Amino acid sequence: MLLFLLTMLYGEMIVSQQELDIHYMQMALALAEQAEQHGEVPVGAVLVQKDKVVARGFNLNILNHDASAHAEMECIRAAGKVLDNYRLLDTTLYVTLEPCAMCAGAMVHARISRLVFGAADLKTGAAGSVLNLVNNEAFNHQLSVTSGVLAQECSEQLSAFFRRRRKEKKALKMAEKQKGLNE
Ligand SMILES: [Zn+2]
Repeated sequence: MLLFLLTMLYGEMIVSQQELDIHYMQMALALAEQAEQHGEVPVGAVLVQKDKVVARGFNLNILNHDASAHAEMECIRAAGKVLDNYRLLDTTLYVTLEPCAMCAGAMVHARISRLVFGAADLKTGAAGSVLNLVNNEAFNHQLSVTSGVLAQECSEQLSAFFRRRRKEKKALKMAEKQKGLNE
């Protein structure tokens, strides 16, 4: 009986963490959608502490003319102001795309405890795909990492965006060519 109860309890705990991860990743996906509405590459991030959302962020590179304005950086900057501390202790950062080297480095500096990401970035991912900066023994802080949460939704959001952008560029080129012929 005790074993049964323990199994139930343990099973429930696992499910509830998974459910939380999915819940916050859905929030990050909605933020990525906002980035897209601003004409940015759709990436969204949420920082959570003790099951409370501390800060949100999405890509703002083009709008802010800022190479560092990745979703994670926006989130980390906003969270520091909320918590009055550049160290974001006992927090989890959720992001739809695997962080790049810059963002992974900032997460280590900020002492974020846990990283949860959706889609892997096979070209520039610094949380295991190309490099691993978030869980590197050479540094004085390591994050625990959960990857692949809503991975399909996250990667589909990005590839749909790039597909659409390629189509728009092609249409623009065709229109310019047509214009040239008519002149
Ligand atoms: Zn980044």
